[in-house]
Amino acid sequence: MNGSIKKIKNFLLPAIDGELRAEVERINTGSMLMISLAGCLIEAIGLCAVLIFERDTITSSISFGSMSFCFICCALFHLLLRFFVSKGVQSHNLIKLEVFLLFGIISAWGMMVSYNHFRQGEQILTLYAVIICLICTIVLRPVFSFLLVSLPFGIFFFIMYRFNGAHGVDVFNYIGLMLFCIYGSLARYRVSFSLIKSKLEVKSLNAELHRAARTDIITDVKNRYALVDDASSYEGREIILCVCDIDRFKRINDRYGHDAGDSVIKAVADVLVDNFGENAVYRYGGDEFVIVSESGKDEFDKKIDRVKSTLDILSVEGIDEKISCSFGSVKGSVSSEGDYDELFRKADVMMYADKRDGRG
Ligand code: GH3
Ligand code: MG
Repeated sequence: MNGSIKKIKNFLLPAIDGELRAEVERINTGSMLMISLAGCLIEAIGLCAVLIFERDTITSSISFGSMSFCFICCALFHLLLRFFVSKGVQSHNLIKLEVFLLFGIISAWGMMVSYNHFRQGEQILTLYAVIICLICTIVLRPVFSFLLVSLPFGIFFFIMYRFNGAHGVDVFNYIGLMLFCIYGSLARYRVSFSLIKSKLEVKSLNAELHRAARTDIITDVKNRYALVDDASSYEGREIILCVCDIDRFKRINDRYGHDAGDSVIKAVADVLVDNFGENAVYRYGGDEFVIVSESGKDEFDKKIDRVKSTLDILSVEGIDEKISCSFGSVKGSVSSEGDYDELFRKADVMMYADKRDGRG
């Protein structure tokens, strides 16, 4: 019994939160802005037409009343919604309230027009049309589909019944259309739900792929593609570009194997990240790193000294070898891609000079 109640509850009010809910609310807010604006514009045109062509009978014109109602309500609703959106005060409950209000305004207008037609023995198509329009554009959870569709249908039937016993209304057709509308709204919810879900999955996969494509697998620092990618963000700024290369790395590979070599690359990357931060360090390729920093030269040099002292005492498991690196750094401002390449070339030359001077 409890299980069935839970199933019914899950069907009527499926849990929806996080990004999924935010996306549904974004769609609904956009749709509500569009519907209220359209309602306002259509009725404004209608009102102008009445003022021009039916000026004499304006006071007795029922359509003038319903048009004015729709125009004023839609305009107020639209302005209020725009205000809430611009002030960023849209909350879950406020959006729910807005959906109810818009359904109320549009259904009430549909009922007014359809009632007028019903009294004249015409078809009551307007109410059907506006409900179909609303369920096509607004994503409703099932319980609200039932509520917001059956309520206007029920109220309007009651009004017609009070007028003349709903004479001329085929009750089976009427209920059938109401059920179709509810079904349409449920189907809209399901389709939107799975589309939004897939869209969010693709978005998060893309973000993960983007991150993976810019990250070096061994060290977890940014790679050469990320450096190229980030280069444009340094334009117009003064930076220190530093090239760092592990000394005699081939020998480590030859003596202890490639896995041990990988551990050394990782250990050096960790030391660089500890001192310069993960945003500043790139593995350029092989045993070579690039550091991009915006700090002052003195501070930068101090950090390099700290890196050197840490490497002096660094021990990597299974390797009985002192690890050291050579550095070459240049300070300069970058205003084009060419400047960047030039800085890199100079830093590379200085790194090789350091390598020559530094090792015996
Ligand atoms: P130097 O002191 O002049 O820098 O000499 P070196 O032995 O370090 O020579 P070099 O920097 O030119 O050699 C880099 C070596 O790094 C060559 C290549 O076999 C090795 N290597 C490149 N990528 C990887 C990697 O991902 N893992 C390991 N283990 N070795 C790599
Ligand atoms: Mg090397």
